Formats: sequence, structure tokens, C-alpha cells
Amino acid sequence: MKKKIVILGAGISGLSAAWYLSSKHDVTVIEKESTPGGVLNYARVLKTSRSQDLLQMAKELNLKVNYTTSTTRYLWMNNKLVKFPKRKLLWPLLKEWAVKPCGEEETIWDFACRRFNKDVARYIFDPMVLGIFGGNIKELSVNACFPILKEWEHTHGSLTKAFFKREKQDPSLFSFEGGMQSLTNALMKNIPAKFCFNTEVNDFNIDADAVICSLPFPEIPRAHLTISHVHYAQDLALPKGFGYLVPSCEGEKLLGVIFDSPRQLTVISKEETDVYRKHLQIEQTPKSILVERQSIPQYTLGHQKRVELLQNRSPPNFHLIGNYLSGASVSDCVRIAKECADMLLY
Ligand SMILES: Cc1cc2nc3c(=O)[nH]c(=O)nc-3n(C[C@H](O)[C@H](O)[C@H](O)COP(=O)(O)OP(=O)(O)OC[C@H]3O[C@@H](n4cnc5c(N)ncnc54)[C@H](O)[C@@H]3O)c2cc1C
Repeated sequence: MKKKIVILGAGISGLSAAWYLSSKHDVTVIEKESTPGGVLNYARVLKTSRSQDLLQMAKELNLKVNYTTSTTRYLWMNNKLVKFPKRKLLWPLLKEWAVKPCGEEETIWDFACRRFNKDVARYIFDPMVLGIFGGNIKELSVNACFPILKEWEHTHGSLTKAFFKREKQDPSLFSFEGGMQSLTNALMKNIPAKFCFNTEVNDFNIDADAVICSLPFPEIPRAHLTISHVHYAQDLALPKGFGYLVPSCEGEKLLGVIFDSPRQLTVISKEETDVYRKHLQIEQTPKSILVERQSIPQYTLGHQKRVELLQNRSPPNFHLIGNYLSGASVSDCVRIAKECADMLLY
């Protein structure tokens, strides 16, 4: 029997839930902004290994997947851009094979220091965490942010061993032709649901058989980021690659820079800064700069228990989805929405 389902929020989580449910049920999506997509419009690259549901969705939407060729990322270290400080980091990576697993919840910093050493924590884990969560490695929980690492520790006895095995299977990053906007557009074109834009939800007493909520939850802390889209009139002499990250120990406001094209950069920072100009030796004055603010959930210690409490507190017909639960990437949002939809379909 057709159910009346109301979905709150038209980011990738809400849109995915609508995509999975609207052919079988009567679905309404409520969104406070005038356009769909939410934070999705800031995403650049997706990882194939974690994106099976998303790739299937893209196939059904006839979207062309573009695999990224320039995956080289640099680090800003000791006043220069470096590819990867191999010499400094190789020995602790090899020594890790002998480290015993730990069953306790740990911060990512403690986990990396225990299994490797402080240099690996500073120059591998910290930039990776900045690139995904924009957050503090000493506060975020490895169990909640990267459960796969804890799993590898227990199943393979070593992260390096597990990583090299896995890397051979699926190393690719991808996006869509036309960028992430084409995913939003294709979903909007193909979801037979009713959309109510410019409608802010403040009262959750909604008359429906099921309500799926993808709105940010105030109880989960968030890191606030400044994103500057910087355009130049002439090509810049940029290093070949995807961009660079700035480890926290460098003490900059800047988290990282993405080289969108020879004339366009996306600068992600805690506060507005133009220090990237010094790093990249840019003398040209930008043609335009568009500054936006975004935030991303922080899975600090105790996150998984907090999420469990939120879920248990919700009424039986009220379902939570979104990037603050068990993965912040676009593919995680699609997976979480699909799990919720599957539960309502069967
Ligand atoms: C700068 C940045 C770069 C990123 N890059 C990548 C990347 O390269 N790859 C990747 O995989 N992931 C990336 N992410 C993460 C990913 O894009 C997000 O986690 C994901 O898009 C979040 O989707 P969502 O639908 O859960 O939340 P949102 O996109 O936040 O959607 C929630 C929606 O609810 C609406 N809403 C809020 N309150 C109300 C209300 N009261 N009433 C009605 N509607 C409301 C909002 O307007 C919004 O549209 C990035 C995130 C950021 C911030």
C-alpha cells in the first residue's frame, strides 16, 4: 500500500531518500532554500571504493562518470610544497606491523601515534582529517570517523598491510560530467515527488506515515569553514595535481587549496586568508573572489553513543538520515538514505 512520506531537506541525503522511495510511495520533500543540493554543491571528488550505491544511482540516471587523473596532493611543510615526505614516514609505516590492536575508543591522534608515531599523525592523518572533516584530529573519534581503520587493525593486524591489499583493488576518484550540479539536476528531473522549496520546518509534528529527517542536528558539533572561489584572468603556474593541504602543526588558518583549473582555485580555511598566494607565489590580483561559509559535522569522542541516543529518542515513524550519523562523504549520505529507504520499502 502507498504510504505518505515526508522528507525534510533536499541535500543529497534527502534527494537520495526521495529517489529510492518516490516510485512506490507518495513523497513530499520540504526544503528551506529556493534550490536543492545543500552542501553537495561543494563536493569535488568521490571515492569508488565507498560509492557503490552512488555509482548505481548514477548509472540509472544516465550520468557520465569522470575518473580523476590528477590525484597528486601536496602538503605545505616547513615553508614549501612537498609531494609526500617519504623518508620521514616510511620506517614507522613498516614498524606498524608489530603493534597490537586496542579495543577502546580513541581520538584519531592517539590512534595514529599508538600505531605509528607523531610524524605520521601530523603529516598523514592530520591532512587526511582536514581534507574530509575540516576538524581537529585530537578531538575526533577514530571509531566514528574511520571505523574501517579499527576493523583493519583487528582483522589484518596492520593498517599498512590492509591498505596495500585494498589499494590494488580500487584506487579511483571520480566526479560527474558537469560537476556535482549534474547529479542534483538529474535527481530533480527523475524524482516523481512533490517539492516544497522556501519552506523552513520548525515543527516536527507532521501528518504522515513516515517522516525522514535529513536536517542538521544541533546536538552534533560542527566545524565552520570558509570557502573562497578565486578566479584569475590569466593562467597561474600551479604545480601539477589536485591541490594541497596544510597540516595543523604549520599553524595556518588555511586548511587546503584545490586547483580547479589554471585560472581557478577553491581555498578552504578556518577564516578568510590569502596566505595561499605566498605558498603558490601568485602575484596576479584575482579577477573575482566569491566567499561562502559552510559547516561539517564533527564526530568527537562518544559520537556513536550520541547518535544511538538520538535514534532511540525519535518516535517510530521518524527516521534520521544525513551526514552527521555515520559518514560525511556524499557516498555515505547516499548509503545511509538507501538503508533507511530499504527499511521503509520492505
Ligand atoms: C566544503 C565542503 C567540501 C566537501 N567536499 C566533499 C567531497 O569532495 N566529496 C565528498 O564525498 N563529500 C564532500 N563534502 C561532504 C558532503 O558534501 C556533505 O556531507 C553532504 O553533501 C551533506 O548532505 P546532506 O544532505 O546530509 O546535508 P545538507 O547538504 O546540509 O542538506 C540538508 C538540507 O536541509 C535544508 N534545511 C536545513 N534546515 C532546514 C529546515 N529547518 N527546514 C527545511 N530545510 C532545511 C538545507 O537547506 C539543506 O538543503 C564536502 C563538504 C563541505 C562542507
